[in-house]
Amino acid sequence: MQAINPYNITVDKVILPELAKRNVHIDLLRLDKIHPVISGNKWFKLRYYLDEAVHAGTKHIITFGGAWSNHIVAAAAACKMKQLRCTGIIRGEEPSTWSATLAEAKAYGMDLHFSTRQDYANKIIPAASANDNARIIPEGGYGPQGAKGASSILDYCDGSSYEYICCAAGTGTMAAGIINAAADKKVLAFSVLKNNHDLKPAIDSLLTADKKFELNDTYHFGGYAKHEPRLLAFMNHFFSHTHIPLDFVYTGKLLFGVTDLIRNGYFSEGSRILVIHSGGLQGNASLPKGTLIF
Ligand SMILES: *Cc1c(COP(=O)(O)O)cnc(C)c1O
Repeated sequence: MQAINPYNITVDKVILPELAKRNVHIDLLRLDKIHPVISGNKWFKLRYYLDEAVHAGTKHIITFGGAWSNHIVAAAAACKMKQLRCTGIIRGEEPSTWSATLAEAKAYGMDLHFSTRQDYANKIIPAASANDNARIIPEGGYGPQGAKGASSILDYCDGSSYEYICCAAGTGTMAAGIINAAADKKVLAFSVLKNNHDLKPAIDSLLTADKKFELNDTYHFGGYAKHEPRLLAFMNHFFSHTHIPLDFVYTGKLLFGVTDLIRNGYFSEGSRILVIHSGGLQGNASLPKGTLIF
């Protein structure tokens, strides 16, 4: 199995023709390059949960996610690497055909347990796993350990020259970790869910100091994992100029939002922005073949 390699992370300059006249500089922190499956922020969010489990002698991890969850497949692969048993509790009835994500998680040895939406919402643990002294990792790695892991993302670049750091937010764990580590930078987190009023309190409760950040919720494209032709067209356009692939659930929306805000004059002249490419590319397999040019 391919090892995780944070030293593959690069900082890539983003040059797009429509931004040529704008005096705003975008660098992309390529967390997608650490591993093809445990891609992006998921390894950062999992690392302390897994270290703690190994340290405590726990042999079994239980976690939660949907059928296309980047977190589920990353947890499956990371547990295999650490030789931990892993149970994935999957939201909804078992589909007649498994998603590529679930098939891959299974291939890494994850025990999949399909849970009705109601049981999932109540975080019911299947009886077979209940008395196993297992360590439970919340959905998306949300929690102080997840945020602490996400704080280490900024160790892989020299952040000193940026005024802004932009990232996508689902549970807000990564955003909280980045805000905690970002010192005086302005952090702008782009919500990928529609009307998620829980996001701000979710981030607030993981902050280690009273820090300012901004949430943007205008680029969700209809909601979580929803998309529109103009989003997919933008991702193809972005790839054709940068050769950098984006995913349609998180980073596509993030870069669409950042470039749109640049065009609207949101960032002041001469600003330098660090944008986090948080990975998630495996999720593009849920799109019809040929939708994306990469
Ligand atoms: C999970 C994920 C996020 C969201 O991270 P949160 O910590 O849940 O906010 C962002 N980008 C990608 C690619 C992801 O897979």
